Amino acid sequence: MAVTESRAVVALENCRRYHPHTIHSSLKQLLEPFGGITGLVKPGQKVLLKPNLLSAAPPVEAVTTHPVVVKVITEMIQEAGGRVYIGDSPGSDSQEKALRVSGMYDVIEATGAEALIFNDPIDVEVNNFKKRVIPIAAALEQVDLVINVGKLKTHAFTGMTGAVKNVFGCVVGARKARFHFDYPLPLDFSRLLIDVYLAVQPSISILDAVIAMEGTGPRRGKPRQMGLLLASHNAVALDRVAAEITGFYPEAIPTLVAAKELNLAGTELPAILVKGLSLDESRVPDFDRGPAAGGKLSRLLAMFPLARIRDMFAARRPLPHINPQICNGCGVCRDNCPAQVIELKMSIPDIDYRDCIRCYCCQEFCAQGAIELDNNKT
Ligand code: SF4
Ligand code: SF4
Repeated sequence: MAVTESRAVVALENCRRYHPHTIHSSLKQLLEPFGGITGLVKPGQKVLLKPNLLSAAPPVEAVTTHPVVVKVITEMIQEAGGRVYIGDSPGSDSQEKALRVSGMYDVIEATGAEALIFNDPIDVEVNNFKKRVIPIAAALEQVDLVINVGKLKTHAFTGMTGAVKNVFGCVVGARKARFHFDYPLPLDFSRLLIDVYLAVQPSISILDAVIAMEGTGPRRGKPRQMGLLLASHNAVALDRVAAEITGFYPEAIPTLVAAKELNLAGTELPAILVKGLSLDESRVPDFDRGPAAGGKLSRLLAMFPLARIRDMFAARRPLPHINPQICNGCGVCRDNCPAQVIELKMSIPDIDYRDCIRCYCCQEFCAQGAIELDNNKT
């Protein structure tokens, strides 16, 4: 029986491991408040599952949505009569490589789902914070609905990546890096993320926090057993709950601040109805929120709601530093720096800090973990 409630509903369920039976029984419980899978998908509908495929990383690294979660959701949709497509646009690696290494091609092979390749964009005009055009993957026009299946992780630039930020993968390829250059401050960039979320409008968002990522996410953090799955029709409310249980100040999560600017539902806890586990049963008090969002800066951002003062503090975020002992000189950081401030000198990256916009794309894409962010070096 679906809930009819004026408050945004967020469901939380225990899920201790990535075993198909465990995931299936947790997902079934999790989706109950939303009418179950048959309340979400009608026979014959084409459904895009949008996992987090940030880069070509194996499931054990907790960078991407776990393939068992995607496989079980795929099978549930197929049982309900839906047709499943799986797609995302990774940051640096090709979509083909990310699908393969993350285990999504195994899901596709086992279930008969299809890969949806995000190549060509269609321009979607939005006018929420300001008028702008967002190049969304044209492939989305082929489906009837989008199910957003994110991974709960820390994020050096936006504090946390959960449900809202996951939808950014619907922006095609290199345009994502360009947006980092156009919007170098976290709040400005997060306004864009809210625009993308509102343009795509996933019908439901599910977060894989069975093993989340803490520390210096979203690529090089540490896997953290949380044993949770979360879901909501409202990705903002879902992120608000995720922030609460991992100990983030909501004022220091710029996507929540941007959502509040638009008066979107779900930014305040009293306006959220939590189903399944309670917030207290779900909290992870010692969650490591990472160097950029877990320290003094986060508390300062929480204290200053005015955008200009927030931007002033945001400009004091840590700078990226190369560890030459680990760097292999591959040049991926240079090739993905939106500000083009990295040069390779004797096979070691040299960053021109005068023009570094602290977007952390370099740190995110370095597969060696050779780029560090240190709060003491700004
Ligand atoms: S810092 Fe990382 S991405 Fe950059 S050259 Fe070294 S190994 Fe490659
Ligand atoms: S050096 Fe790194 S943090 Fe600085 S602009 Fe380039 S990618 Fe962004």
